[in-house]
Amino acid sequence: MQACEKCGMRFSYKQVLKSISWLYKPVTCQQCGTMSHVTAGSRFITALSAVWPMVMLQFLTMATWIRLLIFTTLAVLSLLAVPYVARYRRELAQAVKELEQP
Ligand SMILES: [Zn+2]
Repeated sequence: MQACEKCGMRFSYKQVLKSISWLYKPVTCQQCGTMSHVTAGSRFITALSAVWPMVMLQFLTMATWIRLLIFTTLAVLSLLAVPYVARYRRELAQAVKELEQP
């Protein structure tokens, strides 16, 4: 799991999953309060994790309800795996502000 870039505190699985399901809401570090944003690459991976089961199903010839069931299961499973691969970056404005302080 990704850790805070400032203090190294690890984000919890729940925090990251919540952030992703709320349209990539920034994650606030529980220790130092630094906000971190999802990287563009991670957004891409998240989108892909929902799309690949759909693409795969195009090649399956089964009853619609079975395909829907497989799709839902695969999409949910891959979305649940996203927090393990999602990467976060510290908010740039916040980092600059900290540099300016003596
Ligand atoms: Zn922190």
